[in-house]
Amino acid sequence: MEFCRGCEVSCCSRYYIPLSIVDVFIISMHGWKDFYYIEQRDGECNGCFRVRGKYYTLKMKKRIQGGCVFLKEGGEYACGIHEYKPSVCAAYPFTREDGKIVMMENRECPKGRTPTEKDMMEAESALDDYEYEWGLHNRIVNKWNNSLLSKYGWPGLFVAYGLAQMLIWSAAAKLNKIERD
Ligand code: SF4
Ligand code: SF4
Repeated sequence: MEFCRGCEVSCCSRYYIPLSIVDVFIISMHGWKDFYYIEQRDGECNGCFRVRGKYYTLKMKKRIQGGCVFLKEGGEYACGIHEYKPSVCAAYPFTREDGKIVMMENRECPKGRTPTEKDMMEAESALDDYEYEWGLHNRIVNKWNNSLLSKYGWPGLFVAYGLAQMLIWSAAAKLNKIERD
């Protein structure tokens, strides 16, 4: 989405970015390593995976001095992985309310920016991707949570499991595309 071209506010410094296993898969496929961490949560939460009765999520790493590991300092775009940034970043600062695309009320994104019609169309597509990707993440999490791996495994194993599931999904999606072509 072109709406964000970076700014002095930079939501990328302020927020801790939640990652789906789909985001981790896409970013890893572009050759990046060591960009995420696993955070233990106090209890059950949306998108969390369970290991030995405890709940965890995936988050983007920050630099020691603050800011996302992919945040560029200077340049046209703030994001160093603009084309395959996480879906939550791609959709920000837009959300869907009662089926309508709106800008978030509590956004950090500078006030006074008015999205164009093109921005709104891109926001809709980014939100569609966001919802699809997190739906896929939740399906993989459910499969994991109902398996013996969740009972006897360890948090890092979830990532290996999720990436393997994504490889299978991506091969099946390619096959499906070839069959339809
Ligand atoms: S991935 Fe890109 S857009 Fe998302 S927080 Fe990091 S620098 Fe910002
Ligand atoms: S606050 Fe808005 S314009 Fe600034 S980096 Fe974030 S999304 Fe981009």
